[in-house]
Order: sequence, then C-alpha cells, then structure tokens
Amino acid sequence: MSIKSLKKGLGKDKEIHSVTRKELSILLTERKFKAIQRTVSKTVEAQNFFLKTYSGIRSIQIISFPRALRDSYVNNGLPVELAELELQDRQWKIALERAFDTLSSIKAIADENVRDSLVHTRFSENEKHLIRYLLKMPELLQLVLDGKPVVAEALLKRQSKQDKFNETLREAISEMNLERIFSWLRRRYREAYAKNKKPRIKKRRTYHLDPNMYSFIQNGKRCYIAIASLEPRKRILIPLTSRSLTKADFVGNIKVVLRSDGKVEVHRGINAVVMIPPPLPEANDKKIGIIAVDKGFTDLLHGSSGQKYGVGYGSKMACWSDSMQRTNSGRGRMRSRITELKKRIKSLGNNPNSSSKVRALNRKISRIQKNNLGSQKVDKKREFIKKEVQKEIGTAVNTLFKMEEPKVLGVEKLDFEGGAFYGKRINRLLKTWHKGRLQDALVKSAKTNCVRLEQVNPAYTSQLCRACAAVDARNRKGDQFDCVHCGHKADANFAASLNIFDRIFDPEIGLYTPHKLVKEILIQRYRLRLANQGLNEQEVR
Ligand SMILES: [Zn+2]
Repeated sequence: MSIKSLKKGLGKDKEIHSVTRKELSILLTERKFKAIQRTVSKTVEAQNFFLKTYSGIRSIQIISFPRALRDSYVNNGLPVELAELELQDRQWKIALERAFDTLSSIKAIADENVRDSLVHTRFSENEKHLIRYLLKMPELLQLVLDGKPVVAEALLKRQSKQDKFNETLREAISEMNLERIFSWLRRRYREAYAKNKKPRIKKRRTYHLDPNMYSFIQNGKRCYIAIASLEPRKRILIPLTSRSLTKADFVGNIKVVLRSDGKVEVHRGINAVVMIPPPLPEANDKKIGIIAVDKGFTDLLHGSSGQKYGVGYGSKMACWSDSMQRTNSGRGRMRSRITELKKRIKSLGNNPNSSSKVRALNRKISRIQKNNLGSQKVDKKREFIKKEVQKEIGTAVNTLFKMEEPKVLGVEKLDFEGGAFYGKRINRLLKTWHKGRLQDALVKSAKTNCVRLEQVNPAYTSQLCRACAAVDARNRKGDQFDCVHCGHKADANFAASLNIFDRIFDPEIGLYTPHKLVKEILIQRYRLRLANQGLNEQEVR
C-alpha cells in the first residue's frame, strides 16, 4: 500500500514509518551458501558494469531513460562484458535499475550544484530560467554538454514552439546569446559532475530481487524464501528462523544479504503504521512496563530491572581506541619530521650549489606524505571502528527492547555536544561519540517499538546514594558506588539507573531544572530525611 493511502483515515494516535524488516535464515549448507554467493557476486558485477559504463558525462541522457536502454539491450542483445556474466534477464534488469538509481542521484547532485551557482552569475532572470529548463531536459542538456550548440539550439527552438512552453521564455529566447549560455552551462556542469567519485560497489554481499524473482513458501511450521539462482527455473530455498510469517509479509522488492557466519538476512520494506506512544502516567503504574537505563561504557546499558546489555563493550572499545591512538601518534611523528625537513630546505636557501640537496629533501618529504601520511589507511580504520561500534550498540538496544518490552523508557538527556571523532584525547572523544550513537539508537528503536522515551535531567544521578540520599562526587568510584556517608555499596550504573527511573516521576526536578537547583533540591531532601530520623544537621555537608 502506498504511504498516501495509508495516511488517509489515520487517527491522531498513529503515524507511518517506512521500516526495513530483517528476517534471518538458519545456518545454510555450504553448498547453498556458495550458490547464493555466486549469484550475489555476478549481480554486483553487472551493477558495476553499468556504473562503470554510464558514469561519464556523455551518458547524462541515457541515465535519464533506463527503460530505453533496457529495451535496446533486449532487442539488440547484451554487450559482451555483460553477456559473459550469464545472468537471467531479470537479474541484469534489476542490476541496471539499481545502478541507474545511483547514477541519477549523482546527476541530481550536479544539477543542484549548477542551479545553486546561478546566484553568483550575471545572467538575467530569463537566462537563469532557461538554464534551469535545460537542466530538466536530458536530451537538450546532453547536446549542450557534448558541445553541439547548433543542434541544441535547433531542438530548443522546436520545443519552444509547443503550447505548453512558457510564453515569456519563448519570447526572451530569440533575444538571448544562446552560445554564451550553452558554453557556461557546459563548463559549469563538467566541473560539478567531476566532483563525484567514480561509483562502484565494493562489497559483494547484497542481492536485490523483484517480486518475480522470489516466492514465499510455507512447509509445516517452517517458512522459506525461494530465490532465483544463476540457473533458469532453479531456485534456492532459504529456510527462515521466524515461523510467524505469511505470504502477505513479502510484497515488493527484497534484499538478500550475505553474512559472515554462513547465514543470510532477507530484508523487506514495509510501511508500518505505528501507534504514537501513550502519554506518561502520573505516577509509576506497575501495570505498564516502565524502566530506565543508564548508559555505560564498560557495559553499554544498565536497566533499572537489574539487567545489563552490551556486556564487555568497554574492553573492545579500549582495543579499538588504542589502535587509533597508535596510528595517530605515528602520524604526529611523521608530521614533525616533515616540518624539520622543510626548515632545512629553508636554511639552504636559493644557493645554486645546494639545489640538488634541496631536491633530495623535497623527494623525501613527498615520500613520507605518500607512504606514511596517506589518508586511506586511517579512513579504513575509522570506518571499521564506526561500524563495530554501531553493530555493538544495535545489538544491545534491540535486546533491551526485546527482553524488557517496556512501554516507557527513561534515559538521561545528553548534556554535551558531540565532538569530533578523533583528536588529542582520543579516548574521551570516542566515549562522547559513542554516547551520541547510543542515544540515537535508543530514540530510533523507541519509535519503531512504540515506546515512550522519557528524557530526564542527568544532574547528579550517578552521585546520589539510594540508602541515605546523600549527594557526593566521591560516592562514585569507577564502576562501584561506595557511599562516603553511610557506607552503602552498589553497582554504580545500576544505582544510577534507579535514580534515572525516579527522575521520570520527580515532581520537582524537570528536564530543564538547572544543575545548581537540582543540587539544592537534593540537599534539602537529605536534610529532611535526617530530621525525620532525629539526626542533627552537622552531618550535612
Ligand atoms: Zn549513603
């Protein structure tokens, strides 16, 4: 169903999310896994063929009409390189579709770039109007880009005679210096288009299928997806772990994703109508599930239920951050070496006798820059770490929602701005960055699970003693809570999660209550408690 028709007749308590559902297969036999792998590999090769062949500026017109290309392939046969892959028709057709989607979005970025730069030109409003028109007309644009102004002009004049053509523009065109406009557009567009990296799919893990390339099968309690293989009429049967699926769950295109553990994921897109979470009850209602979590580092999430999620995350993170640190300090050393060499070049000056020495030093500098300061290795490492972090976080958050099935989830509001990914104090920055990712994952999962996410004021939740209500920075010692006033000991994150839980319903401490005021309120409460117990205030610090 389309989003539009879904939105109609939707109550105020519901909204639509388009979400991807992932179904996991059971462990596949090696033979089956390899057969899927071969199919994936070949279809990705086909996509790369299209990306490679049509990413040039000479293909602007072609990528706007994928159907025309498809039909000409069907009628005239495939190019050799593509034919050699021996794909079934549907497989190369969907590869073409996917590749052209990518190329179209690259073109759209260039279009946008050129349109934006019109502001800084001296073209008249009518001339700008014409340029925007040319950008929308692939055939005309291609003629301009190919440097065929005469043919382009003839086509433009022909088109301008049509009824639907803008009348003001039609009159203005006859007065314009079209050659000047065409050559500006050609130059500017080439510039904008050249900014794009050459698109290629590097990882061979994803296989896209349209509804004709797969079918849903149920046999007893087991559900299967049968997918097209490289051989005609021979489908590969993928047994799924979920047993509660029906045919209706699979409409439209799906994606089969290879995993490294010998299983595959089947991704399907659905337009889900989700309930907007109900309002927060006045007080802790035991009937609806309310929990709070403290975001940790050693272990990722500590629930007020006492459960932990993402256990052992901190030690993995420490490993990654160390390896980043090593790379970075090595780079620092190389940078100072370059500064040193540059100084020596300067001291040699323009003396012709030392010119060969200067050349040698310059060679040395460029060698270091190329071999030791290239960005590729660092980028790769950073990408890897980011991915691992995302994976760990995703698993922890999903498990939390699955296990606890909360209706309301209390979390601390983040009280810092996200920092850069790496820098001098890498460890601290990594922690900051990771907290942001964790928060994002919680917000997103809460939305899809119809859970009310209650952000609470984070002030002093880690310093407040659950036993005596004292607030003291010394109460927290790493992962341990050890009250300096009453000796109460607890797991620090668990204690914090209970404090966060209390904040959800705290009548005095709201999300935006200033830090200082929060402390005053907490000290007041401590005093009151002491007074009730008949103790004197000397205890109060
Ligand atoms: Zn205490």
